[in-house]
Amino acid sequence: MRALRLTTWGQAPASAEVERPVPHGTEVLVRVEAAGLCRSDLHVIDGAPGALPYRLPFTLGHEVAGQVTALGPTADGVSAGDRVVLYGPWGCGSCARCAAGSDNYCDRRDTLAWHGAGLGRDGGMAEYVLVPSARHLVPIGDLPADQAAPLSDAGLTSYHAVAGLRHALGEGTTAVVIGVGGLGHLAVQALHATTASRVLAVDVREDALALADRSGADFSTLIRPDTARVLRARSGGVGADAVFDFVGAPQTLELATSVLRPGGELAVVGSGGGSLTVSKPGVLPPGFRLSLPFWGTRHELAAVVTLARSGALHVETERFPLSAAAEAIDRLRRGRVRGRTVLVP
Ligand code: NAD
Ligand code: ZN
Ligand code: ZN
Repeated sequence: MRALRLTTWGQAPASAEVERPVPHGTEVLVRVEAAGLCRSDLHVIDGAPGALPYRLPFTLGHEVAGQVTALGPTADGVSAGDRVVLYGPWGCGSCARCAAGSDNYCDRRDTLAWHGAGLGRDGGMAEYVLVPSARHLVPIGDLPADQAAPLSDAGLTSYHAVAGLRHALGEGTTAVVIGVGGLGHLAVQALHATTASRVLAVDVREDALALADRSGADFSTLIRPDTARVLRARSGGVGADAVFDFVGAPQTLELATSVLRPGGELAVVGSGGGSLTVSKPGVLPPGFRLSLPFWGTRHELAAVVTLARSGALHVETERFPLSAAAEAIDRLRRGRVRGRTVLVP
């Protein structure tokens, strides 16, 4: 089968012919219908040797939807023919966190040579993907594959970030979303669908702002020197209750901390190389709270699929054949993608 393999750190992944896997034990073989392309794939490709614990080569693709085609002899919980989305963060499978469905916060993460499907283990930018256990599969019914695949990371990570700050997002509150790309446009939708908060969106691109508006944002603006003041005014003058930073660059972290009201919360999701300094006294607002949400739980993925099937989440997609992955990666690198790129084998 064809697969998009990362073979050398810092070099473009290459299409290669590899053996179609055969499921053993609890493993499940899924025929891939679609795989999303995430900015994290670029961070992985660009990684310096040794920066990540992954062993090369492996097949990329951590946002995957498809159809179960074969089961190992002790696999259970799914049947051949089921259409599924992959729960991508694969932990050790046996610690308390994994047992509770939170592989994203596996207690043995530091001892593993992978973070999940397509992240150190063979992922879904291929015709088939081998999944260690059916517990990593969530049924999608008749949801189109290009809608389902991005739910496994762009949808789930955004939902998990919003869920973590839901206590701060009641009636009359303001949430700011910075970076309305693959993740950010689904965060705007998740905020709109599951909280009472006013939603303000920020990006560097006009077309991303248009996407924010279509996704349910109450207001959107380009990032400029006076953006903190503009957002503060839009929040009734007090500042934001919560900021979701899907960029994580020095510029966006500075905007985030300067727009928060006292007691406000910041969730940093993007890996844009920025950093924050904590000092007292200092510039951070009193009562400031910071979280670094990573991916999400299996139960949250099921909730995200339910939301998408109800119509409350709609992924804006650009489709490419898997054979055109290089072009798709280049578009994402140049900031040309609106919403999420989906590769179809
Ligand atoms: P994306 O490229 O689709 O979206 C990024 C958006 O941010 C784009 O719309 C871009 O125009 C905008 N942007 C870039 N610089 C900006 C700036 N200075 N100010 C405002 N907006 C700016 O990327 P994505 O796939 O949505 O991923 C977003 C980030 O989240 C990446 O760093 C990715 O690695 C990270 N990520 C984290 C997790 C996690 O679990 N924590 C999961 C997936 C992705
Ligand atoms: Zn990702
Ligand atoms: Zn674990």
